[in-house]
Amino acid sequence: MNDKEVQQFVILDGKKTSREIEVEIGEETRKLLPVVGRPPHLAAILVGDDTASNTYVKSKFKACKRVGFKDTLATFDTTVSQETILEKVAAFNNDPRLDGYIVQLPLPDHISVEIVTDLIDPKKDVDGFTPANFGKMGLPHPSLLPATPRGIMELMTRYDIETRGKHCVVVGNSHIVGSPVSLLLAGPGKATVTVCHIYTKDLAFHTLQADILIVAVGKPNLIKRDMVKDGVVIVDVGINRIPDSSVQRGYVIKGDVDFENVSDKCSYITPVPGGVGPMTIASLLLNTLDAYKRTHQL
Ligand code: NAP
Repeated sequence: MNDKEVQQFVILDGKKTSREIEVEIGEETRKLLPVVGRPPHLAAILVGDDTASNTYVKSKFKACKRVGFKDTLATFDTTVSQETILEKVAAFNNDPRLDGYIVQLPLPDHISVEIVTDLIDPKKDVDGFTPANFGKMGLPHPSLLPATPRGIMELMTRYDIETRGKHCVVVGNSHIVGSPVSLLLAGPGKATVTVCHIYTKDLAFHTLQADILIVAVGKPNLIKRDMVKDGVVIVDVGINRIPDSSVQRGYVIKGDVDFENVSDKCSYITPVPGGVGPMTIASLLLNTLDAYKRTHQL
């Protein structure tokens, strides 16, 4: 295709899709409420006063309210000891009125994410971060899936994007996004998967082969126009705050893909914001509902 020709592309609208999922969750919650006697209940542990973390937790709890879930927030100062956090995790594990909880990351340096995560009861691990849930992803009957990868798969499913037999290239290999989404694509997604990371030589060589390109790195404009082929599906997970004095809050949010110059080469592409972010929250709600149903054998 001539570089100047403009192709029609479809926006993978995570905001709209997540609201549709919320309506479904809300309906199911209303049906189950008289059976169980209480609504699903999500809690969060938030340490410190990181603005982004605060915003994320607020968004998650707003979504809880929209679908009729109960929510509980446990906040701690940055100086809180690891022991206190572990005590809270143990208390949440043992609280039968709680279906799931998250420990909002990042944690301060003196608290080990690994030690905290290892103590979370996998049945209440609605972020899907525990080793048990990560390991079960590869089994025929997975438990709670990691929230962002689940959201990515759900978004593609709802837009009828077939992954079977496609070449999916995942840029980023973190245990939160890149690695689990590549497992889901290669396993239930039946795709051929290439995983790229910081040591990948000639990133463009790989991205140019992608039928479906998932980017989860945290570097604005990493993926440029000449790095993708025509008709590619792009899911941009990156969230980057770019200083911008022309807007009141002083920054704008951008993804890892140069959306302005890449989008017209795509068949489908997620916007940032409004793509994967809302789908992550919808997945958290779905995981909480799953945990609630499993606890009550529904
Ligand atoms: P992370 O833990 O920092 O991982 C980044 C990954 O990118 C690593 O695997 C790293 O490689 C790789 N990488 C770094 N530079 C690269 C390069 N130049 N080329 C290729 N790969 C490179 O980050 P994360 O937690 O996965 O998050 C990634 C981004 O997604 C961030 O912007 C985050 O804010 C965003 N995010 C969004 C959501 C959402 O709901 N929308 C959820 C989670 C995360 P190595 O492994 O070799 O270091």
